[in-house]
Amino acid sequence: MARESFTAPIRLKLAQRAAYRCAFPGCSRLTIGPGEQADEIENSGKAAHIYAASEYGPRGQGLLAPEQLKAITNGIWMCGHHADLIDKNSGNRYPVAVLKSWKALHDYRTAYEHSGRATAFGFVRSLTLLASPLFEPATIEFGKTTFLIGANDTGKTALLDWLSVLDSPRRLWRWLKPHPLHYALLFDAPGEHRLEIETGDGAVRFDLDAGRVAFNHHRIAITALTKRHYHSAEDDLANLMSLFHLDEISVRSLAAMIDSTKFYLRSARFEQEADDEGEMQEILRCKLQDGAELAFGALSGGEQGRVIMELAIAHMVSVASVAPALLIIERPNLGIDDAGFAIYLDYFSSSECRFQTVVTQFTLTEDIKGLGWQVYQLTGATDTEPGKIEPVLPIKS
Ligand SMILES: [Zn+2]
Repeated sequence: MARESFTAPIRLKLAQRAAYRCAFPGCSRLTIGPGEQADEIENSGKAAHIYAASEYGPRGQGLLAPEQLKAITNGIWMCGHHADLIDKNSGNRYPVAVLKSWKALHDYRTAYEHSGRATAFGFVRSLTLLASPLFEPATIEFGKTTFLIGANDTGKTALLDWLSVLDSPRRLWRWLKPHPLHYALLFDAPGEHRLEIETGDGAVRFDLDAGRVAFNHHRIAITALTKRHYHSAEDDLANLMSLFHLDEISVRSLAAMIDSTKFYLRSARFEQEADDEGEMQEILRCKLQDGAELAFGALSGGEQGRVIMELAIAHMVSVASVAPALLIIERPNLGIDDAGFAIYLDYFSSSECRFQTVVTQFTLTEDIKGLGWQVYQLTGATDTEPGKIEPVLPIKS
């Protein structure tokens, strides 16, 4: 079968849409510049194929027709090094969905910069465990969306605690004793930084770009949806303040920002209502897409999960317009069914969404199997063996 190469006009357009910069997260290398002679240019970039150009090429050809394989939608602009890297080992390490989300991200970033605004874009690239009480040394490379799969007590929450120091060391207190913890986070905010964290003797040592600091000064704003908010006895306002770690004014303005035709919730507002004992409660009134308006407490568990998710998305959208942002979703806590969750997964991988997400769940579900997200399987420690963190490769069709 013939090789479905891109035409020169397609290659040019791919390069120009990418502003001649590599779309590999964290690279952004400029791939064009002056050539040797005064009237020459030198182009070091490559139009890489997402689905393969030839029958047995990296990532396969899906079910794409020849004209789709050589269309601009099947290309991603990269520097020479990264164009080669993504095709190593039949492209197993860099599946189609990952490349597509990188391309969407790069498109967004380029359009944002082109619009004349300074980019606030950031990206959490990796977490490398050097020593830990739970796992053997391992590296998690984050994509736009990353899944951590593991049963209870396999260390999902621990990893989220360790990751969240990019925002605040608040969750690290659990790890001051008894076993030492030593790890490094690589991230762009938007320039490249490395934060190294080491605990011992009840204290934490932070090194940022090899200089000692008290905490991370290139902050990534992290919101974690970690618990079912309605389990608390207080009113909706107090519960949301505690869930989002926000003050009252911020939660009220966040609710007022909801104005969407895309998701479950159309708009939301707080209303005072007396409870059975005559105490005034701040109730979240939720207006749904069908026009119905219901109190948050009257919604089913899964519907409440959607409202919380959509408040979090609105929050992240506003944060991401000025600072790097990452949303952590402990999926089992939200009680959203797979069909409902699919809408959010589509959004997270789109170029419209400019924040990163990390999703934890118990098992590898159908919706993420073989899709090519960044997926890691966690295995808990036993009496004799440390826990493991292993990448799950997509199932090849
Ligand atoms: Zn590159």
